[in-house]
Amino acid sequence: MPAAPPQSLWSATATAAPALTPLAGARRADVAIIGAGYTGLSAALHLAAAGRAVLVLEAKALGERASGLNGGQVIPGLKTDPEALEELFGPERGARLVASVAAGPDLVFELIDRHGIGCDAARSGWIQPATSAAALALLAARVAQWQRRGAAVELLGAREVGLLTGSPRYCGGLLDRRGGTVQPLSYLRGLARAVVRGGGQICVHTPAVRLRHAPREWQIETPTGNVTAATVILATNAYSGELLGALRRSIITVPSFQVATAPLTPAQRTQILPGGQAASDTWHLLRYFRLDAAGRLVLGARGTFGQLPGPRSCRHHYRAVREIYPQLAGVAFEYHWGGLVAMTRDHLPHLHELAPGLLAGLGYNGRGVAMATLMGRLLAQRTLGMSDAELAFPVTPVRPIPFHRVSSFAARAAIQYLRAVDGLARVQARLRGGSSWT
Ligand SMILES: Cc1cc2nc3c(=O)[nH]c(=O)nc-3n(C[C@H](O)[C@H](O)[C@H](O)COP(=O)(O)OP(=O)(O)OC[C@H]3O[C@@H](n4cnc5c(N)ncnc54)[C@H](O)[C@@H]3O)c2cc1C
Repeated sequence: MPAAPPQSLWSATATAAPALTPLAGARRADVAIIGAGYTGLSAALHLAAAGRAVLVLEAKALGERASGLNGGQVIPGLKTDPEALEELFGPERGARLVASVAAGPDLVFELIDRHGIGCDAARSGWIQPATSAAALALLAARVAQWQRRGAAVELLGAREVGLLTGSPRYCGGLLDRRGGTVQPLSYLRGLARAVVRGGGQICVHTPAVRLRHAPREWQIETPTGNVTAATVILATNAYSGELLGALRRSIITVPSFQVATAPLTPAQRTQILPGGQAASDTWHLLRYFRLDAAGRLVLGARGTFGQLPGPRSCRHHYRAVREIYPQLAGVAFEYHWGGLVAMTRDHLPHLHELAPGLLAGLGYNGRGVAMATLMGRLLAQRTLGMSDAELAFPVTPVRPIPFHRVSSFAARAAIQYLRAVDGLARVQARLRGGSSWT
């Protein structure tokens, strides 16, 4: 295993960072946004376009958290299928919600086009390869639901998935042509540049440490200055801290780690993901993979503890690459890195109104590239006065998870258990002697 690299693949290959400085002194804004990930910057972009004075506070440098670290897979929809969403939210709101999450990638790729964001964007589709016949049956039902709604989603057989992924392991899958890939940190930096061009301000290395409600406005304290604003948007997702403890306790955070190989050879690239799709398979602890612009294979999967992969996690990920791609047996690895994913009890993202003029959006359950960008727009729409009934997502009060510490521990224990279940299934498949897991 290589020594811990100083940076992720994305920070090694991203477009230049915009010049941003910390907050200095007292400032006023119409809307103050805490957190400069996709949620915060998309909200800022949409609010600045509507003529609002916006100021974004970011505790770290831009892109040190999930929006600069993720897999860059632009995935349409939520983990919950359209029919289940319509059942949950009723036929009218449910249909609107499904249509809006289906169009999440449209929003991402439109913003990239409109603001000229260089981020290796490719709308080449997203594959969900099936690891078992039972998983394939679920995918078939998912495809039928999306097709009834006119979406460009199709079911694939083992041979087609083998040709698209270059892996002999999967027994079929789903191809969703609405999805694609971006260089996630370049996308984030491009959004930041667009915010600044639109008149918004972004202050980095400026943690919000206290939030106070004064009559008709909010005051935010930071170590280097204060901000007063009529509206505050909390866009801190998995990195929500003690600023608002109830928000932090409304999610469970779990680590996700990634590794990147050295650039594949031209011959390997003709076999492995030759169409440039992103893929996330159907194991309980799914593995997600794609190529970057230089042809490195980037693979991610759940970690268990910490925010950076240790030697054991790296070995687990290297093994996953070799299992999916036996032809990459001797491949060298160049990068490994990780971050936190925010999970919710109902597996759905949430838009909260915590008090008048205090909003939050979070809980993307590992699907935040499109969804956080969309949530930013929803938060902007709400700030601009859109009613709960008009919004695609309902505005809900925040609900802390009871016994949060115990639940967090249980989630990590569940990861260990599911890893063992998946591992056993793979061992059984090997003993059966087949090339695939089914
Ligand atoms: C390893 C990994 C891989 C992933 N892969 C994918 C993928 O391929 N596709 C996909 O759709 N999703 C993926 N996700 C999920 C996706 O990255 C997130 O859902 C999304 O980036 C969340 O954006 P955000 O803006 O809400 O949060 P973040 O990007 O985490 O931003 C929150 C920001 O708030 C800041 N902050 C926190 N507290 C304060 C404070 N008090 N003051 C000021 N700032 C504060 C943090 O520093 C941080 O920058 C992945 C996540 C991880 C970790």
